[in-house]
Amino acid sequence: MALNAAVVAVGTELLGEDRLDTNSLRIATVLRSCGVPLVFKSVVGDDETRLTRALQQASEEADLVIVTGGLGPTQDDRTRNAAQRLTGGTLEQDQGVLDWIRAMYERRGAQMPATNARQAEVLAGSTVLQNDRGTAPGLRFEHNGATFFLLPGVPMEADGLLETALRPWLIARGLEPLAVETELRVACLPESLVEEKLASLYAAHGGDGVAILAKPGEVLIRLRGSDAQERSDMVKAVEAALGEAVFTVVEGAGQSESLEQVAVKALRDRHASLATAESCTGGLIGSRLTTVAGSSSVYAGGAVAYANQVKINILGVDAALIERYGAVSGPVAEAMAVGAAQRFATQWSISVTGVAGPGGGSEEKPVGTVWFGLAGPGVLRSRCLLFPGDRERVRWQASQYALDMLRREVLELDALEESPWMTVTRQQPPEPSEERLGGLSR
Ligand code: ATP
Ligand code: MG
Repeated sequence: MALNAAVVAVGTELLGEDRLDTNSLRIATVLRSCGVPLVFKSVVGDDETRLTRALQQASEEADLVIVTGGLGPTQDDRTRNAAQRLTGGTLEQDQGVLDWIRAMYERRGAQMPATNARQAEVLAGSTVLQNDRGTAPGLRFEHNGATFFLLPGVPMEADGLLETALRPWLIARGLEPLAVETELRVACLPESLVEEKLASLYAAHGGDGVAILAKPGEVLIRLRGSDAQERSDMVKAVEAALGEAVFTVVEGAGQSESLEQVAVKALRDRHASLATAESCTGGLIGSRLTTVAGSSSVYAGGAVAYANQVKINILGVDAALIERYGAVSGPVAEAMAVGAAQRFATQWSISVTGVAGPGGGSEEKPVGTVWFGLAGPGVLRSRCLLFPGDRERVRWQASQYALDMLRREVLELDALEESPWMTVTRQQPPEPSEERLGGLSR
C-alpha cells in the first residue's frame, strides 16, 4: 500500500529563535528508510485551536500524520485536547497508563506529582504507545482517513518511539526498510569538485538516482538504484571518481558511519592506540573521538595545549623550536605529536596548531592557517592547510582534516591530493630519524 506522510511539530518554543524543530528530521529519516514520502510539514505553537486546525490540515494532506510535542503534564501541553476536539472523542483516564507512570516514579524513588495524572488521559479508542524513556505515552488513532501518531516532544523520547512504535507499524504494512539506497561519505573534498567528478553518473541517473549533500569538510552521496546490481555499479563509479576520499559505504538510508567512527575502527582493528595534542581545536578532536562507543579501547587521551608554555611543559616541545619557527609551524606540530605519543604512551598521535581567527593572523600565517602533525609506527609527518571561514568553521574543518589524515595513514592510503583548501606546504614523508621520532618504536 502506497502511503505518504505529514509531520506536525508542536511547541511555542519552536516558533522562537532558540529552538529548532529537529524531531521532524529524524522522522524524515525513518520515513525515507521505509520509502514513505514526506509531503507536508508544519510547526505550530501550544494553542489548541490552531493545533486542531493544523492536525486537520495534515490529515487532508497525507495518510499518515506524525505529531511530536505537547504531551507533557502541564497546562500548556495541548496535543491530547486538540486530538479530542479533532475527533470529537473523549479523553479517559487509562488505569494501565496511570499505574505505569506511577511505577516509573517509584523506581526512581519518587512520588508521582498529581499533575502527571494528565498524561494518563487517553483518547478513547486509541492505541497507547509505551514510552520507555519518559512518562508521556504516545497515542495512535485514526481520523479523516489518516493514521495519527502522537509522540512526545523530548527528542530522545520521540526517537525511542520512532523505533519501537512507528517503524514496526510501517514494517507491518509491508514498508520494510528495503535497501534501495546506498550511502557514501567523502571527507575533505568540496561539493563542487564532487559534483564535477560525478557529472556523468548524475547525467545517467538524474537527481532521483544521485543526491549530493554537503556540509563543511564532508559530502554525503546517496545512490538510489532499482536493484542491488545497479547500485553496486553506481558505487563502483563513485569510487573510481573519488577514490580513497570515500570513507564509508553502507547499504540503507541514514546508516553510514562518521569519520571518527571509521578512524576508531581502523585503529581498533590493528589493536593500536591514539593520543591527541590540540591547540586551536581545543579538544574538539578528542571530543569527537569519544562520542564513538568503544573508543576507550583505542583513545588514551589528549592534551589541550593552547599556550606555548603548555606545549613546552606538558608535551615536551623544545622552546627553541617555537622560538625559531613559531607555534604554528610544521616542526612544532611534529614535536607536539611526538610529545603526545610519548606522554600518553600510544602508538599513534595527531596534533593541531593553527590560527583560528578572527585575530592572530599575519601575512605569513593568515587566519585559517593550520598545521597538522602525525606520529605513528615509523611515521612522522606534518602538513599545512589554509581553511576558509570563521573561527567555528576553521576549527571544525581542522578536526575533519586531522581525522582524515589519521584514517589515511592508519589504513595505509595515499595522502589527500586535491583538497578544498590550499595546501601551503606539503612535505614529503620525511625519513623519520630516531631523533625526530623521539625514541618511538617502529
Ligand atoms: P514530555 O511529556 O516528555 O515532556 P512533551 O510532549 O510535553 O513531552 P514538550 O513539552 O512539548 O514535550 O517538549 C519537551 C522538550 O522537547 C522541550 O525542551 C522542547 O523544546 C523539546 N522539543 C519539543 N518538540 C521538539 C521538536 N520538534 N524538535 C526538537 N525539540 C523539541
Ligand atoms: Mg511543549
